[in-house]
Amino acid sequence: MTRPTQAFINWSHFRHNYQLAKQKAAGRVYAVIKANGYGHGIVACARALGDADGFAVACVDEALLLREAGIKRPVLVLQGAYDANEWQLASTHDLQLVVHHAQQLEQRAQALLENPVAIWLKVNSGMNRLGVRAEEAESLLAHIAADEQLQLQHVMTHFADADLAQPEALSAALETMQSCDWPVSLSVSNSAATLTQLAADIETSDSVSRPGIMLYGSSPLANQSAAELGLKTVMSLRSQVIHTHDVKAGEKVGYGGNWTAEKDSRIAVVAIGYGDGYPRQAPCGTPMMINGHRCSLVGRVSMDMITVDISEFDDIQMGDTVELWGEQIDVDEIAALCHTIAYELFCQLTPRVKRVAVEG
Ligand SMILES: *Cc1c(COP(=O)(O)O)cnc(C)c1O
Repeated sequence: MTRPTQAFINWSHFRHNYQLAKQKAAGRVYAVIKANGYGHGIVACARALGDADGFAVACVDEALLLREAGIKRPVLVLQGAYDANEWQLASTHDLQLVVHHAQQLEQRAQALLENPVAIWLKVNSGMNRLGVRAEEAESLLAHIAADEQLQLQHVMTHFADADLAQPEALSAALETMQSCDWPVSLSVSNSAATLTQLAADIETSDSVSRPGIMLYGSSPLANQSAAELGLKTVMSLRSQVIHTHDVKAGEKVGYGGNWTAEKDSRIAVVAIGYGDGYPRQAPCGTPMMINGHRCSLVGRVSMDMITVDISEFDDIQMGDTVELWGEQIDVDEIAALCHTIAYELFCQLTPRVKRVAVEG
């Protein structure tokens, strides 16, 4: 027997979303599959995109999972090497490394590299997280050029405001990237920038876009839904009604009794909770689909269960399937109600939720 709380992953929709990124991108497209493929399964994501131009992951450990699974496509490590040993691993396993700090090149000097390592130099264009300042880039580029075992592939940056929330910050970032005469083509676009083609002026057919969230069918843009953007839903999170009962007007439901029935009501208990990654901050009223009916969460989310008001829907009974988000309930709607983003909802799904592949 398998617990009915499962995440169904539609891999043909994942491929559709990658193709949409390819259509929008100026050049090649590396699929970002860090953090276990945004919770969808890192190796499964890579296998689903067997002909992707490449993949991007956060760290060498994630890249090695791909190599151990026999994935041979280019793999970019977005945080680069943490120490000399990771430089060696990158060289052995043909991993491409981001260099975002001068000290990483000092660590490289302590490693004996068997094979050349492909480098992406990361420039800070105003996000002020990883990356060297444009003024600092020249000396690092010279350092990289002088090292026979390092091969510069791209100069990259990551926008803090690619969703156009702060247009001034974004134009400053684009200016930073335009201000220099870089020796190689640029890689600047995440999902938001890919969909809006906002860096079209500085990208060429040699550029590489790095979309993540759009591949998983969530919109990175505040004013357009995933469906409006032509993205298809990849994950449907489902569970089952495991109990139903009646409560009388004035009775409370759940921990802390934070929901009180205004009238005599019927309650369903569904086998999912924050122990599965369903967000505990989901407020009363958060929707879910049961038998084609949009029902509301009531009471607090528990570790293994939630409670739902099904008073309006006589046909709902034990054993019925519940969709928490997916084809019928937009994950971005749930994220907004929980004051978070779909990225976090996907990433916090726990291993207790079995991922089940769906094709077609
Ligand atoms: C995570 C990440 C991306 C992908 O961002 P999305 O918003 O998911 O498209 C691209 N580039 C870098 C450097 C990242 O860290």
